Amino acid sequence: MKKNDEIILNITDYTVEGSGVGKYEGMAVFVPLTATGDTARVKILKVKKAYAFGKLIETTKKSNCRTENDCSAFSRCGGCAFRHISYEAELKAKELRAYETVKRIGGVDLKPQPIIFDKENRYRNKAQYPISQEGKVGFFATHSHRIIPCGDCLLQPEVFKDITEKIEKWIEYYKISIYNEEEHKGLLRHIFIRLAEATGEIMVALVINGESLPFDRELILALKNTVGEKVKSIQININTRDTNVIMGEKCVTLYGTDYITDILCGVKIRLSPLSFYQVNRVMAEKLYLKVAEYGEVENKTVLDLYCGAGTIGLSLARKAKKVIGVEIVPEAIKDAKFNAKANNIENAEFYCDDATSFAEKTSLKPDVVIVDPPRKGLTAELIQTITEKYSPERVVYVSCDVGTFARDIKKFGEKGYRLAEYTPADLFPKTAHCENIAKLIKE
Ligand code: SAH
Repeated sequence: MKKNDEIILNITDYTVEGSGVGKYEGMAVFVPLTATGDTARVKILKVKKAYAFGKLIETTKKSNCRTENDCSAFSRCGGCAFRHISYEAELKAKELRAYETVKRIGGVDLKPQPIIFDKENRYRNKAQYPISQEGKVGFFATHSHRIIPCGDCLLQPEVFKDITEKIEKWIEYYKISIYNEEEHKGLLRHIFIRLAEATGEIMVALVINGESLPFDRELILALKNTVGEKVKSIQININTRDTNVIMGEKCVTLYGTDYITDILCGVKIRLSPLSFYQVNRVMAEKLYLKVAEYGEVENKTVLDLYCGAGTIGLSLARKAKKVIGVEIVPEAIKDAKFNAKANNIENAEFYCDDATSFAEKTSLKPDVVIVDPPRKGLTAELIQTITEKYSPERVVYVSCDVGTFARDIKKFGEKGYRLAEYTPADLFPKTAHCENIAKLIKE
């Protein structure tokens, strides 16, 4: 097989990024936008040692997983991987991925519990839109900074479209200058919108390469006319650095309050533009309920590592004896402490530290440990500290990367912690991402 060859391929699986995979002459070929069960004519784009990349030319036999794509930006925009297969098929694929990875990398042959899920569209509560030089709001194409206009993105609440349309008109009318990444010139970099679903409050922040926004009064009026009283906060976020990090460190409120408030598992959560918050609120609640079930935290001391703004720990605090949260980002810890106070939760403590080094040095003795690390998973040292120093009855592992999750499950196993049960949770429908929650029990 070589570049530009055309081959016929049976698609049998998906990659972590959501591409279809088929085997050809013993080699895995990755083809975006195909579905398991497809037979496809594929043009080879690139050949590596053990695998190749191809482009779908046509499906000669269509899989019965396939469904009508309902988004005109799909396949150009980098947001969704699965708008061409049914949600049912997507859920099955995510379950199967969890099972196969836990078996292959984790060395445990255990079927997951049925995947938990909720609505498949309009589940996001936050968007960060780049803006094209022509003043159109969109999303980045896959692996690129080319901007694809998004119109009404089906992952976002409908009101986000009303807001972005108004901002596009304001940009056009007042000739607002748009930031150019290559030249590091121009003003408007990104538009940040956040919805607190439980209260309906909306925050809009314009990320700018500068200190102030021209025609800000006009923008405020326009947004209030569109969205009404639900717009509680309009801010600028100042980011003058030559970087592709979206948000700068400083926010200035132009209208309303500095934050909006959501409610998660009965806990009021204050959100600023810089706060870390689960983007799928309804599913975050279901995820946290699973954590509570697996953790059995009644009257226990709970260590919540990688706690973000403390939302897992706070959702458990009324049942637990004590909750200790640890997180490396100072703003998140500030939010966590504020949220504890605002909810009259007195048995929660939060520390800003690296999870591994905190765990090593603290004299606290948790009964239950919850970990929710970023994609790279846990350090070997942290697993050692948890299992040897704390030796808790149970560990609850929340993961957004099933590969590192399975790797860590294996390490826990070697330390005498058995994977008793795990559940995939689809917090990111239509994308290739999926969370998994595991209960590990000391043998
Ligand atoms: N449990 C939270 C957040 C999970 S996301 C929630 O459900 O909302 C993972 C978090 O780990 C992020 O907030 C990130 O800032 C934090 N983090 C990343 N590296 C860390 C480290 N080395 N030590 C502690 N926290 C870390």
